[in-house]
Amino acid sequence: MPTNILNLTDYKIARVEEDDHDYHITAEISNAPTVCMACGSERLIGHGRNEQVIRDIPTHGKRVAIYVDTRRWRCQDCGKTVMESLPAVNARRVMTERLCKWIGQQSMKRTFASVAEDTGLDEKTIRNIFRDYVNELEAQFRFETPQWMGIDEIYLIKPRCVIANIQNNTVVDMLANRNKDTVVKYLFQMKHRDKVQFVAMDMWAPYRDAVTAVMPQAKIVIDKFHVIKMANEAMEKARKGIRADLDLKQRRGLMHDRFVLLKRQRDLTDKEAFNLDGWTKNYPVLGEAYRLKESFYSVYEASSKEDALARYEAWSKSVPPEIRPHFSDLIRAFSNWQPWILNYFDHKVTNAYTESLNSLIRVMDRMGRGYSFEALRAKILFTEGAHKHKLSRPKFERMRDVEPDYGIPADAMGYCAFVAEPVMARPRKVAKPHELYEPPKNYGADINTLIELLEAGKL
Ligand SMILES: [Zn+2]
Repeated sequence: MPTNILNLTDYKIARVEEDDHDYHITAEISNAPTVCMACGSERLIGHGRNEQVIRDIPTHGKRVAIYVDTRRWRCQDCGKTVMESLPAVNARRVMTERLCKWIGQQSMKRTFASVAEDTGLDEKTIRNIFRDYVNELEAQFRFETPQWMGIDEIYLIKPRCVIANIQNNTVVDMLANRNKDTVVKYLFQMKHRDKVQFVAMDMWAPYRDAVTAVMPQAKIVIDKFHVIKMANEAMEKARKGIRADLDLKQRRGLMHDRFVLLKRQRDLTDKEAFNLDGWTKNYPVLGEAYRLKESFYSVYEASSKEDALARYEAWSKSVPPEIRPHFSDLIRAFSNWQPWILNYFDHKVTNAYTESLNSLIRVMDRMGRGYSFEALRAKILFTEGAHKHKLSRPKFERMRDVEPDYGIPADAMGYCAFVAEPVMARPRKVAKPHELYEPPKNYGADINTLIELLEAGKL
């Protein structure tokens, strides 16, 4: 009989039985207590036994239960009873510590249901163990508070809030929802939250209100891409608006050419320009909407806040009444969010990663049917090898922005490097002697690394 089937040195194996599904291993503790824990006396006598069934890691495809005859001892000097404590066992869960850890790790890769199936435990237990495991990981990995923070939304069963580090292209956390209370609570417990300088976000009032309440020093900047996306959406509305006037063939043609309408004029090929010309000549509404979309983009080419506002106001006045309904969402958003939209022209921070993050989440969501939000969150935040330990300097960007080829359907949007104004550059920090030995800082899960891991099937 293999004495080491358990590979737990603190146990002596007495008997191994197996059936189709399970190993039943009878064992006892190698070293019985020799002294009373209360008084140190060596005069201990046996005082009853109690069989416990301890769960352990599945072995050879079978579930494992260890039957341990725990003995109770009584001290003849002080009268106290001593219960043999079980080494390597998580007393609260009546299973080995290594099983707890294994369940935690497995739950990052597989559904709770399949881990439950393998261990013979119920799903609720698996979920609880996983929660403890995540808490441990959270204590182990403390991510640096971003100085430039991105607050984003991703869709995972329902909308969730993502906290990101813009300078590092990393995810720092994912919150179960995007309510103000949730965000306030999260930001409030952040270490050095007073060091956050900028927060780039979408036009979502609870985010703005939470940041204003908890980090009043942080400047809120509405992400440029969320604003110009609305100009593209207006273009789409104009296109859909004329659909009713078209026959099937024309409709198909327009659907086919929709990307031309969303593309920047300066990026059109000759053929695309020709197609665009055809549509806009036949349908003046499309031409007008296209002109407005293009001129809205030029607001973002402004050199200052004042310039941007002047450009916007001129633009808004130039929207003819018959086209206005298509652009009304954009106009309303701009007037509701004007101060924060205009902040961009003082501090050109933007979430360059939004699109790559969204595609990452989409793929994970598709692969992760049956996973809970907590499991996907843990996978993103705590996957080994995905953490970024060095502070990157903001990416270099030439003075003129590089616009995406075309708008909404393009993943290209996210690949525009964010802008680093010369004024933002900080002097390089010189390490003081005592800082040299600090553990490396952890800036969170690197989005590009996560995508690489996912593509390699390692996530
Ligand atoms: Zn004693």
